[in-house]
Amino acid sequence: MNIVLMGPPGAGKGTQAEFIKKEYPIPHISTGDMFRDAVSRETELGKEAKKYMDAGKLVPDEVTIGIVEERLAEADCQNGFLLDGFPRTTVQAEALDRVLSSNGKKIDVAINITVPNEILIKRLSGRVSCKECKVVYNLQSNPPSTEGICDKCGGELIQRSDDQGETVAERLKVYQEQTNPLLTYYARQNVLQEIDGNRDSKLVFADIKNRLESLR
Ligand code: ADP
Ligand code: ADP
Ligand code: ZN
Repeated sequence: MNIVLMGPPGAGKGTQAEFIKKEYPIPHISTGDMFRDAVSRETELGKEAKKYMDAGKLVPDEVTIGIVEERLAEADCQNGFLLDGFPRTTVQAEALDRVLSSNGKKIDVAINITVPNEILIKRLSGRVSCKECKVVYNLQSNPPSTEGICDKCGGELIQRSDDQGETVAERLKVYQEQTNPLLTYYARQNVLQEIDGNRDSKLVFADIKNRLESLR
């Protein structure tokens, strides 16, 4: 199954991707994680992406589409994939459709997780994630058993610099302006599934699983 996970920053895309991965063995492709890796390795891509990420803006479409296209061409993506945080603009969605259709494929489902803004802001302020395996925790609602250490792999937990202050407000604004219009794009294709993300994450996943099972 070819799945797109959508939703504003903090909606729970990464958290739900972990649940989905356990149930459906498909690769999890997070453009945010790919960019953060490039930033920490100080590659050319990382240097370019960092300017935009620090400002809460989107990395330009050409750059983003390029890395996703390369990733989707890899062998492990041929029997399905879970895109998390991509596409985020209509230009990206159209490019994705072109790449897929040239290989006789398409997006089977676009899952949009919705959560009110005030809850998103609260969640982002408490988010920490594992430097190694990228698993996400929340200092308030889902803390690790040992402070600062990942339960899953023992890696160091870090807070993202873009989860603080002004950048959060900018990212929410960018989402409204540039990503929200994509919902219409996927609704027209009849693949959009809206999920209430303002519930316990296990309930959110049960809902997602039901929708995915009905498509199998
Ligand atoms: P996204 O990938 O959409 O930005 P994350 O999965 O990283 O979102 O979640 C953002 C923050 O909210 C994390 O700290 C995570 O632990 C927490 N979180 C995720 N889902 C829920 C939920 N259903 N209820 C409460 N907190 C959640
Ligand atoms: P969140 O989990 O909070 O939704 P992500 O980890 O997906 O955030 O993305 C972090 C940052 O990486 C974004 O603010 C943006 O700068 C960049 N980014 C991630 N995905 C994309 C994309 N599809 N297009 C452009 N920029 C992106
Ligand atoms: Zn870890």
